[in-house]
Amino acid sequence: MLIEENVVSLFPDNRSFQLTDNEKNYLYALGEGACLEFSSNGRISCSFGITNDNTLYITDKCNSNCIMCPMAEPARRFGHNTPIETLKELIRYMPQNMEHITITGGEPFIIKERLFDILCELKQGKKAYSYLLLSNGRVFANHDYCKLFAESVPADFLVGIPLHGPNATIHDAISQAPGSFYQTTNGLTNLLSTKSTSVEIRVVINKINAPYITELAKLIIDKYSKIDSVKFMGMEMLGNAIVNSEKVWISYDTAFSMIKPAIDMLIENCIDVALYNFPLCFVNHAYWHICANSITKHKIKYADKCAQCREKKTCGGMFTGTDKFLMDQVKPII
Ligand code: SF4
Repeated sequence: MLIEENVVSLFPDNRSFQLTDNEKNYLYALGEGACLEFSSNGRISCSFGITNDNTLYITDKCNSNCIMCPMAEPARRFGHNTPIETLKELIRYMPQNMEHITITGGEPFIIKERLFDILCELKQGKKAYSYLLLSNGRVFANHDYCKLFAESVPADFLVGIPLHGPNATIHDAISQAPGSFYQTTNGLTNLLSTKSTSVEIRVVINKINAPYITELAKLIIDKYSKIDSVKFMGMEMLGNAIVNSEKVWISYDTAFSMIKPAIDMLIENCIDVALYNFPLCFVNHAYWHICANSITKHKIKYADKCAQCREKKTCGGMFTGTDKFLMDQVKPII
């Protein structure tokens, strides 16, 4: 594909399209090596961008149905899988040695063993220097899956697995999948024992699990001290989260004060901690160094009041959707 002035020309068939300035800027922002899909009705969509969307999206579907998931239940149950041939074709078009690829869904293991083919293709094609796979980890309760995973995983690989609480009552109430605590905790143990990947535990803080986070930190220290890190995450208020907001919403101020002892405990035990999705003014100044700018650029919102904030450049902002719940509470740092 070649972009000259406001005309994009496609190879090998030499079709060309006139672009608006916005469309041209969008295509440039995707970066060299981005993969685009041209549908028969003339629609162009980005399947993979190097600079701002380096994600391999496997499926909408999931075998859990988390009460605070930012996707809605119908998408989880009846959504679509990206066809395996499309995924493989996409991987073929990706350049080698990209900085990073995230593999996500839904639950990527919904496509079962075919995910190992994807991992092998990425590994053999030397597509990236580092990878993140987001999975609910239930599948790793199966030893055969752990073995296959260890055989196919590329180097410098991180698996992010959510643990919602310190016991089955809390975890399964949040995942809405009976037996998932048992599977995820066994999955974590099995996966760590393969020594084939780094593992991070992700905890989305909500009204149900916030009172039990210290207990959860103790469990992590006792059983999973070999993990790479713990990521405490503020909720994204869309999909299930918005439908269940009465049950799950907790202000970020309250969430931070409830997880602070757990953060201290984990750090004292040499486990790295990061805070995802928390704007700086909701976090005690002493913990700003663990706040990550974790929200994808196109989803970031700031309140009008943020214009007065001297930390706006450092702050990662709020999720579009969650901003409605936080707008009145932001406290510009002056
Ligand atoms: S006032 Fe706005 S920019 Fe400043 S820390 Fe809070 S959310 Fe971030």
